[in-house]
Formats: sequence, C-alpha cells, structure tokens
Amino acid sequence: MAKLYYESDADASLIQGRKVAVIGYGSQGHAHALNLAESGVDVRVGLRAGSSSTQKATEAGLRVLSVADASAEADLIMILLPDTEQGSVYAAEIAPHLRQGDAIFFAHGFNIRFGQIVPPPGVDVAMVAPKGPGHLVRRTYTEGGGVPSLVAVAQDASGKAHDLALSYAHALGATRAGVLDTTFDEETETDLFGEQVVLCGGLTSLVQAGFETLVNAGYQPESAYFECLHELKLIVDLMYEQGIAGMRFSISDTAEYGDLTRGPKVIDAHVRAEMQQILDDIRSGKFAEEWMAENRSGRKNFEALRAAGAAHPIEKVGAELRAMMPFISAGKQRIQDVSGG
Ligand code: NAD
Ligand code: MG
Repeated sequence: MAKLYYESDADASLIQGRKVAVIGYGSQGHAHALNLAESGVDVRVGLRAGSSSTQKATEAGLRVLSVADASAEADLIMILLPDTEQGSVYAAEIAPHLRQGDAIFFAHGFNIRFGQIVPPPGVDVAMVAPKGPGHLVRRTYTEGGGVPSLVAVAQDASGKAHDLALSYAHALGATRAGVLDTTFDEETETDLFGEQVVLCGGLTSLVQAGFETLVNAGYQPESAYFECLHELKLIVDLMYEQGIAGMRFSISDTAEYGDLTRGPKVIDAHVRAEMQQILDDIRSGKFAEEWMAENRSGRKNFEALRAAGAAHPIEKVGAELRAMMPFISAGKQRIQDVSGG
C-alpha cells in the first residue's frame, strides 16, 4: 500500500507562518482561499483588474489585490488560473516578484511538466491537487470533511517543501480524507490519459457510437438513448461502489456473458494500440504543444468540435427525455453549481 498522510502527519504551523497568495478565484481558487483563511492562514487573493470575481471574494471577507501585488506581498503563491493562461500570467506578473525562499504551488502539474513555467532556483515548487471539483473542496470543508488530494514536489529549495505542501493540504481540509504522494510527471500524465482515453474521450465516443449504431439500424432514438447513455450511470454507480466484479454480480448472467465475451472485441488490440499512442503523445509533450497552439490561434478548431458535439442527435432526444425526469433536472442544477466559476 502507498503511504497516505492524515491530520496528525501535518504540521499546521508551517502554512500558518506564511503569507499565501491564491491567484485566481474560480472553481479551485475560491475553495483554497476560503478554506485556508478559515484554517487560520494569512491569505490574499490575486485577480486581474476588472475581474468579475473581485466582488465575490471581497464579500466573502478576503483581501483582493492585483496578481502582481499579491505575488509581491506573499511568500507562497498558489496558481489557480486556467492551465492555458498560467504561463503568460506567471511571466508577466508573478516571476518578477519571486524571492529566495518563496514557494510556488500548483493544483495540477501541466505547466511544470511541459515547461510552460520554469521557476528559478531557490524557490520551492510543489503541488497540492485535490481529487475533486473546487466546489466540493469548499463544501466538504464546511461540513467538517475534506477531499483527498495528491502532493508532489518538483523543486525542494528549502529542504522542507514536502512538509509545507502537507501543511497546505491540511489547511485545505485534505488530510481529513487522505493525502497521497505523487510526482508532477505522474499526476500530469495520468490525469491527461484518464480524461482522454477513459473518463471523457473514450466514454463519450463509446456512447455516441453505440447510439449511432442502433439508430442507423432503425431503432428508436429514445430506446438508443436509454440503452447507451441513461443506464450508464446505474452501471457506473455499481462499479464505483463495488468494483467491476461487484457490478457483474448485480447484472443478469446474460448481460455478464455478453460483457465478458463482447467487451474485449470492442476494446480490441487496435484500441489498445491507440491508447498507447495517446499516452506516448502525452509523454512526449505533443498533446500539450497542440493544445497550447490551439489556444494561441483562438481555439477555432476546439469551438467547432464543441459545436458539432452539441449538435449530435443524442443531445436533442436526451434533452426531451430528461425534461420528463424532474429528478434528473435537480441533478443538473447541482452540476452547474459544481462547474461554475
Ligand atoms: P477556473 O477556470 O474555474 O478559474 C480560473 C480563475 O482564473 C478565474 O477566477 C478566472 O477569472 C481567472 N483568470 C482567468 N484568466 C486569467 C488571467 N489571464 N489573469 C488573471 N486571472 C485569470 O479554473 P479551475 O478549474 O479552478 O483550475 C485552476 C487550476 O486547478 C488548474 O491548474 C486546474 O488544472 C486545477 N484543478 C482544477 C480542478 C477543478 O475542480 N476544476 C480540480 C483539480 C485541479
Ligand atoms: Mg483530472
């Protein structure tokens, strides 16, 4: 078993002795700033001039400064901007204010792993990455719980960077749930692979392809929707609670025989070779380069793909069917709460 850290493993006084700047007040930013402040940490929030979040943060009782002023004042800077924005904001407004002994923190390894940010020597570089959306990081903290988190150190200038990261994770509430060591490489590469191959990319393409196959064969889109999308949650819930073997215990023997004999035909050697290629492209930096270039050129391809996905027939029939299931609409409100900045 990997080593997990809990509350008694952390020294709360380390983070309480620092001046922390939380840069950004989105999903993660608001949760980090508020949880740390309530854990007795000296927090200021760094936002760009005219940010719509300034009022929210001020009303929550936090001090809001420009990114440059917050960085100058602080000796620990947590960067919680969108990953694609971090490099330019760092270069213009954070790097000029870094001094020997400062620490720079991240909640995801992308910018360090792919060289978008190269901190100077003499500065601790660490990660505290909650394994959950920011709104849960905030809500579970207020309820006395926490969200499990990963910690990693990319540069240990002080010799105490890991202790400091653990202390930060403690103030965030994460040691109530469990904190696991990782590296910037492992966190970044597994996170990108998971979302591309299984959680987001693999799953959405699987659902759409199954839906299209049934509809093209003449079945009702409503039947195809229930089979290929709606029921997915019931299956995933069983896997989440009891693992794959536990899920198989709950389905019929007919379903299980089809699962065991047909699943490997769908996810065949060709698909596994594609998975390996996608992992190779993540590790070589090819994916990161492509995504940064897409952002530099105004996200035209990204927006076109997003629009095409939203126009897929499964969305129309799904919206109609979900409108008849008000218990699902209640869930939709919850998702907006979680993903909204
Ligand atoms: P977000 O998009 O919710 O919030 C970003 C914040 O940055 C907003 O306040 C926005 O106004 C501000 N911002 C955007 N561009 C800016 C600029 N140029 N200058 C100044 N401020 C700017 O971002 P997020 O989802 O909280 O992600 C922050 C970091 O946390 C990322 O590294 C992400 O990978 C990581 N992370 C996010 C989650 C999550 O739950 N969303 C989970 C784990 C890790
Ligand atoms: Mg992830």
